[in-house]
Amino acid sequence: MTLQTRISGYADPALHAEGLFIGGAWIKRGGIAVINPSTGDRLADVADATVEDAARAVDAAEAAAGEWRATPARKRSEILRRWFELMTQHAEELAMLISLENGKALPDARGEVAYAAEFFRWYAEEATRIPGEYRRTPSGSHNIMVDHEPIGIAVLITPWNFPAAMATRKIGPALAAGCTVILKPASETPLTAYAMARLGEQAGVPSGVVNVLTTSNPSSVTNAMLADPRVRKLSFTGSTGVGRHLLAEAAKSVVSCSMELGGNAPFIVFDDADLDAALDGAMIAKMRNAGEACTAANRFYVQSGIHDAFVAGLTKRMAGLKIGPGYDPETQCGPMITTNAVRKIDRLVSEAIAGGARVTTGGKPLEEGGYFYPPTVLENVPVDAAIAREEIFGPVAPVYKFDSDEEVIRLANDTEYGLAAYIYSKDLARALRVGKRLETGMLGINRGLMSDPAAPFGGVKQSGLGREGGVTGILEFMEPKYYAVDY
Ligand code: NAP
Repeated sequence: MTLQTRISGYADPALHAEGLFIGGAWIKRGGIAVINPSTGDRLADVADATVEDAARAVDAAEAAAGEWRATPARKRSEILRRWFELMTQHAEELAMLISLENGKALPDARGEVAYAAEFFRWYAEEATRIPGEYRRTPSGSHNIMVDHEPIGIAVLITPWNFPAAMATRKIGPALAAGCTVILKPASETPLTAYAMARLGEQAGVPSGVVNVLTTSNPSSVTNAMLADPRVRKLSFTGSTGVGRHLLAEAAKSVVSCSMELGGNAPFIVFDDADLDAALDGAMIAKMRNAGEACTAANRFYVQSGIHDAFVAGLTKRMAGLKIGPGYDPETQCGPMITTNAVRKIDRLVSEAIAGGARVTTGGKPLEEGGYFYPPTVLENVPVDAAIAREEIFGPVAPVYKFDSDEEVIRLANDTEYGLAAYIYSKDLARALRVGKRLETGMLGINRGLMSDPAAPFGGVKQSGLGREGGVTGILEFMEPKYYAVDY
């Protein structure tokens, strides 16, 4: 079944591309199979870039760099704004494409497209407000003038779980800053990245400013680019393991790195929380993208007084979700990305059960077609189970009971990660007091969703380095230049 037949009625053929996009040219060369995780069918074959293609992409980014950094900010801004508008016009086709190659339910895919497009709108606005600084030294010796310059060619590497948003969250600020880029999307979800590159062409992005490569050999292709002295930035979103490896590789040429890595978010519910609000928030924090999100609630810590009611409410809601192909309009929980993902979830759940956890719904992979794991709730989970340490990346909610503030702070911080955390309590002072002691880059208070293009997204500890989005996100793609001035 080809992609075109699968999405007939939705797809603008002009959006479909399978070739490498280098210097404004499409280079067709099949190689990497793109699989529909809802069925296991092959959707398309995309080109497989070599190390030589990577060098050509750096050449193209270099050739375009001078003119792009000299392009007035207002003009760069207008191109990004047009790209935002085109994504919005094509939102339904992009959402269908995301559902097909990633498996996420259509409402999640629509949400992602809107979120992704907003990064272009936000950075269209920020492009014209790049900050500078001017002041006199405290000693009065001279004046300090600080300008921000584009850092140079940026390599952008993105994961499969948000194929549109993780790309725009990097391309938006990079282009606004005046950088040219090479995007390497995940092999599982390249079609969305190529469709967006098509829209970028229509928006007027000059040739070579955005290049897109897919490869079955990410390590050698990326290492070759990082070793090229013209590449000055690596912006990576993905697992902590791959992030560590890339940091070591980037160190060889002292390439600036921004790292958005894994998470292990605690979701804390205090006795005084509004139960329905906490359950609504839990469903969003756990089930957006069927749990395949770095910010997904990975550990539910629920205070003794509200614990049983919370488990009962969560079980009812999770058990009521409709499982099915992502692109089926009725679906609320789509498949996992691969069979390996299902196996990992199954291992974590089985180990937790062996350690004493009780299943209140779900608990076993579904047998028929696709890569499905049902929404699952576990209670009485040992706090030292593997499921409390590793990212589940699936629709499984392990619930742990706690008694005191001190206990939950200790448990929540007992992880190498520090990306996101959630607190539900009607006592805002208590939520802020506990929140202040949580080792996390982001905290949702009485909210199950925190992502917003206008906010700084990122983590502490081994969840990453730097921030994306917000007012400061553009500075990840700029270098301050200090002029010591006398007159
Ligand atoms: P991944 O396995 O780390 O892959 C991410 C990207 O890195 C993909 O494009 C992958 O390419 C590429 N890659 C893999 N090995 C590489 C290597 N040796 N050199 C260069 N590139 C390499 O992560 P994933 O499974 O796609 O995504 C899930 C992870 O991303 C989770 O840990 C999640 O928490 C994290 N994440 C974090 C954020 C955040 O903002 N903090 C957001 C979303 C996801 P291939 O696909 O070709 O292997």
